[in-house]
Amino acid sequence: MASEPTHATSTSPHDPTDVIVEHASASAADVAAAAATAREAQRVWWSQGAAKRAVALDGAAAALERIADRAVELVIREVGKPRLEAAGEVARTSAILRYYAQASFSADGATYPPSLGGMLVARRRPHGVAGLITPWNFPLAIPIWKAAPALAAGNAVLIKPSPDAMAGADLLAELLAEFLPAGLFTAVHGGAETGAAVVAESDVVSFTGSSAVGRAVVVDAAAHGVPVQAEMGGQNAAIVLPDADAARVAAMVAGAAMGYAGQKCTATRRIIVVGDGTDVVDALAEAVQAMAPRDPSEPGHAVGPVINAASRDRVLAAIWAGVAAGGRVLAGGPDAAVMPSDGWYVHPTLLDGVPTGHPLSCEETFGPLAVIQRVATVAEAVELANSVRYGLVSSVHGRDLDSLLACADALHTGLVKVNAPTTGVDFYAPFGGDKDSSYGQREQGTAGIDFYSTTRTIAIVPHG
Ligand code: NAD
Repeated sequence: MASEPTHATSTSPHDPTDVIVEHASASAADVAAAAATAREAQRVWWSQGAAKRAVALDGAAAALERIADRAVELVIREVGKPRLEAAGEVARTSAILRYYAQASFSADGATYPPSLGGMLVARRRPHGVAGLITPWNFPLAIPIWKAAPALAAGNAVLIKPSPDAMAGADLLAELLAEFLPAGLFTAVHGGAETGAAVVAESDVVSFTGSSAVGRAVVVDAAAHGVPVQAEMGGQNAAIVLPDADAARVAAMVAGAAMGYAGQKCTATRRIIVVGDGTDVVDALAEAVQAMAPRDPSEPGHAVGPVINAASRDRVLAAIWAGVAAGGRVLAGGPDAAVMPSDGWYVHPTLLDGVPTGHPLSCEETFGPLAVIQRVATVAEAVELANSVRYGLVSSVHGRDLDSLLACADALHTGLVKVNAPTTGVDFYAPFGGDKDSSYGQREQGTAGIDFYSTTRTIAIVPHG
């Protein structure tokens, strides 16, 4: 295997000459040393009890709120997230910390009728060291929606963030250090080799990222015999029924497809229009055309750059491939606009007429690109929505309750939104997909605590 670069560098997608942070890649030995320290710290952490864990997570939430402005600027600069969404992510991150601070006090087990008298108790315990491998697109919220339940359940955390979001993870490590035993939460930086070393050293593994990498991480964790969950890509459909309000749906779906330059796992990638749909397609084209990318630090807009040069090249190549396959550009296109800088910008693009079996229709591009697909009936819409290998989220829009409920029941996705965008996740409800979008237990909410703990059953029989 070719060895990895010795350093990882995070630069701004708006201004690629702006280096945000550079780290030497952590070697397998570095990761092993961090894991050994984490394992020691975890014993202390678990022995200190639930109140200590709650106070620490609550303290970290308050600390993040105190430096919220700095955190928002960092998210904008490091990953190009538009200002309003960056502020939303910072607020959500502290809300998640507060939620899991309280969850530290949740019931941690159950009692059963003892067969021999005394007590039969099943009690949750931490696994030990939780290895977290995270993507760049939610640089604060994703690390925390994994780390907070892991810590609340009594684990230590080793996190390997994306090389494109290292400064976000460093900020979290800095905040948490004030409240946690030394070495309990450690960010290790690097690429695939560092990530593989984290899997090798951990007692439980949680991954979020692409389906290809996630599958490899799942196999790797299974080979090491540790529990694993993986949240991966999507090719999410929005179904528009004939009785939907065209203007309302167009605004909502355009935002879900192109907001943050389409770089959310939950972004709408396919818009399946049932019936004539001329009004809604025209309104969508207009809405997407109006979403020209802008400098993410400017207020009042929803689309910034894509994360890096490879991502921009991938999106442009996908647009060209769609056009070559017979797709018609309804909005945007490869050379649609004057960009705000020499950063990695692509105009949000809507294509019509790309064949349903074409990779653009079936595979995730992870950028500001969506396709219109036309069908005659609700049944065809559901079949088309379900025809891809992914199953993360879908949405359905219209007024007729029977059709909405029939769709919600028949769609093979972990989340179904009715008259709501595919994007947007409630951190206190279970989150995860079906098929190639997810593996293992759900995360977030109480599902997070369940995943990061294991049950020990204890039978206590009276003596004599
Ligand atoms: P990615 O798969 O390229 O990388 C994710 C992480 O895995 C990074 O930290 C990377 O360094 C690490 N990694 C790469 N190879 C590895 C290996 N062999 N072993 C261990 N770790 C390895 O994903 P990305 O580009 O950072 O993020 C975008 C992807 O994430 C998209 O596919 C998107 O749909 C997905 N995503 C999913 C969710 C979800 O909850 N379902 C949320 C956000 C993003």
